[in-house]
Amino acid sequence: MSVVPVATAQRAAELRSELARAQHEYYVLDQPTLSDLDYDRLFRELQAIETEYPSLQTEDSPTHRVGAPVQSAFQSHRHLVRMLSLDNAFDQAELVAFEQSIERVVGDAIHKSGYTVELKIDGAAIALTYRDGVLVTAATRGDGTEGEDVTLNIRTIRDIPLRLRGEGHPPLMEVRGEVYLPFAGFERMNEARVAAGEPVYVNPRNAAAGSMRQLDPSITAQRPLRFFGYAAVLPDGSVPARTQWELLETLSAWGIPVAPHRQRCHTIEEAGAWAHTIEHETRAALGFAIDGGVVKVNAFSVQDELGIRNDRTPRWAVARKFAPDMAVTRLNKIDVNVGRTGVLTPFAVLEPVDVGGATVTYASLHNADQIAAKDLREGDYVQVVRAGDVIPYVLGPVPERRSGHEVPWQIPTACPKCGSPVTRYGDDVASYCTNVACPGRQLEGLVHFASKDAMDIDGLSYARIQQLLDAGLVHDCADLFDVTVAQLTSLERFAQKSAENLVAAIVAAKQQPLSRLLFGLGIRHVGAQAAQLLARHFGSLDAMMTATAQQLGDVRGIGDIIASSVAGYFDDPTARALLEKLRTHGVRFDEPNAVQADGPFTGATIALTGTLPTLSRGEAAALIEKAGGRITSSVSKKTTFVVAGEEAGSKLDKARELGVPVIDEAELLQRAAGGDGAT
Ligand code: NAD
Repeated sequence: MSVVPVATAQRAAELRSELARAQHEYYVLDQPTLSDLDYDRLFRELQAIETEYPSLQTEDSPTHRVGAPVQSAFQSHRHLVRMLSLDNAFDQAELVAFEQSIERVVGDAIHKSGYTVELKIDGAAIALTYRDGVLVTAATRGDGTEGEDVTLNIRTIRDIPLRLRGEGHPPLMEVRGEVYLPFAGFERMNEARVAAGEPVYVNPRNAAAGSMRQLDPSITAQRPLRFFGYAAVLPDGSVPARTQWELLETLSAWGIPVAPHRQRCHTIEEAGAWAHTIEHETRAALGFAIDGGVVKVNAFSVQDELGIRNDRTPRWAVARKFAPDMAVTRLNKIDVNVGRTGVLTPFAVLEPVDVGGATVTYASLHNADQIAAKDLREGDYVQVVRAGDVIPYVLGPVPERRSGHEVPWQIPTACPKCGSPVTRYGDDVASYCTNVACPGRQLEGLVHFASKDAMDIDGLSYARIQQLLDAGLVHDCADLFDVTVAQLTSLERFAQKSAENLVAAIVAAKQQPLSRLLFGLGIRHVGAQAAQLLARHFGSLDAMMTATAQQLGDVRGIGDIIASSVAGYFDDPTARALLEKLRTHGVRFDEPNAVQADGPFTGATIALTGTLPTLSRGEAAALIEKAGGRITSSVSKKTTFVVAGEEAGSKLDKARELGVPVIDEAELLQRAAGGDGAT
C-alpha cells in the first residue's frame, strides 16, 4: 500500500469537513452556501484521493453517504428498500466510460437492454407508500435508509393520487419520485417571503425541500408543489414491470404524473444526443428546474446483475449533469428600488454577463439583511444564477477575488426617490420609505391598483402609468378617474381609439367589488385573500373603517399583523382623504358576496364530499360561506353536517361513524335559502 503524504491526508480531512458542512446546509437547512458546481468539484476531489489512497476512506466519509440523517421534528420512516443517490457524468466521454463499466460486468446484455433516459428533476426525493392502491405514507429520502414521515404535507399536493387509478395494484409498494416547484410558483413564493420579511429560498429545489418539511401542513398546502414519479419498488426489492420504460408507462396508467421528454435509447450515443437536445433546446421552455438527464439501464434483469456501489449509487444509472445556469461577474453597484408599500428593495447592477444563454445586468438582492448575510460588497466578483425564467439571483461573492477595494453596503437612511426618512417595522427585515406620497411608491402603487387581481384595468400598463405620472395627470389612484380622452390623446403614442378604450376601462373598474379595491389599495400585508375575507365579512368599506383592530383580527383567517396594519391604514388621514376622493368618483365600496352576518349557516362547520348533481365544489363552498358557514376539509365531531354527492369518499364514512348528519344538494339549497336552521 502506498504511503499517504501528510498534505494529502490533511486535504482529505479538510474536504470531509467542508463537504459535511455543505451537506448539512443543503439537506437539513435547505440553505446552501456553496454552489452545486463547487460542491461537485470538492466531492470529486475527495473521491479521487480516496481511490488513490483507500486507507484514507472513513466510515463516515461524505462520499459514502446519501443525503442526511433525519431530524427529530418528524417521525422517522424506514424505507422498504434503500433509496440511493446517483453518480454524475459531466460529458459524453464520461457517459461512454459509464457504458464500459457496465459492459465489464454484463457484457453484451447491455446492448440488448438499451437505456431509458429521463429528465433529472431538480426537486426533493420522496417515497410514497401505497397499500392496495391507497396512499398510506410519504417520506423524504433522509439518509437513504430512514426518512422523515411527511405524509400530512404530501397529502396537500394535488398531483399525488391518494388512490391509484386502474386495477392490479401490488398489496404494498413504494413509488419514488421528485417533489418540485415550478418556476412561476417559486417566484410568487419568494415575493411573498420578501413581503413578509422572511429570507428567500436560493432555488426551487431548496424551496421544494423546505416546503415539504414544514411542521404546519397548511403552509405546505399554500406552496404550489408538484410531483413526478420515476421508480417503484416492492418489499422484496423487485419492481412491478420488466423494464424502466414499461414501469413509467405503468405508473402513468395508475395516475402518477411522469415527467415529459422521456425516451428509449438503444446506444449510449443516442442517450448523449438526447441529453444535448434537452440541455440546449428543451430546458429553457420547461417551466421547472432540471439539473440534468438520467440515463438508466432499461432491463431490470440487467440492473439486478449490476447492483450498487458503496451502498450509495446504483451501477445501472448515471446523471448526465448539465452546465449550471451560473456565471461569475463583477457587482458594480448596489442600487435601491422603492415598491408600492414603500419597501426599499436593493438590487445588483452587474457587469453584463451571459448566464445560461441570456445577458444579465440586474439581479434582485431582496433586502439589506440578505446582503449582510452574504457579505456582498460593491466591487465584488459574484456568482450569478439563473434558472429558466426566474429572475437572476446573486448567490454570493467570490472572496478569493477581492482586491481590498470592495465597499461594504448599507441601506440608505433617506429614501433614494424622495429623501424622506427610512424606517423598519418591528422584526420586519425590510426597510420602508415613510412618505405615503413618495413618487417611487406612486408608480408601483398604480401598477398594483390596475393589476389583474386588483381593479383589472385593461390597457393601463406600466409604461402608460409612467406616462401619466410624468405628465402630472395623476398622483394617486383616485386621480385615474379624472383622466379624460382629450388628455390622453395629447400624450405621445396615444391614438384616439386606445384613449377611449382606456377611459372606458377605468370607468368600468368603478364597479369592481370592494375586495378588489381593498387589495388594490396596497395596504401592507393585505394580499388578495385577506382582502376577500375582510370584504366578505364586513360587506362595506364603511363598516370596516369603523371596526377596531380587535374586530378586524376576529375575522377568521385574519391575524394580528394584518388587523393592525389595516387599522393603521384607516387611521392615516392621507389614506382617509384618498378613500373620500374615490367615494366622490363613485367607486363601489361594497361587496356583493358579503357573508350574511346572521345567515342560515352562521356558526356552522360544513364538509363537502363527492360530486353534487348541479353545483360545482366552488359554487357549493361559495353558497355556504355566503350564508355564514365555514367549510372544513375533514370531518370531526364538531362538524355540523356533511353535504354528500355521488361517489362520496371517506368523509361520508367518517360522518356515519361519528353520527354527523348527512344531507344532499337539494337540502343544502333549501337550508341556504333559509328553509331550515343549520345548527
Ligand atoms: P443528485 O440530486 O445529484 O441525484 C440523485 C437524485 O436525483 C435522486 O435522489 C432523485 O431525488 C433525483 N432525481 C431526479 N430525477 C430523477 C429521475 N428521473 N430518476 C432518478 N432520480 C432522479 O444526488 P443527491 O445525492 O441528492 O445530491 C447530490 C447533489 O446535490 C450534488 O451533486 C450537488 O449538485 C447537490 N448538493 C449540493 C450541495 C451544496 O452545498 N450546494 C450540498 C449537497 C449536495
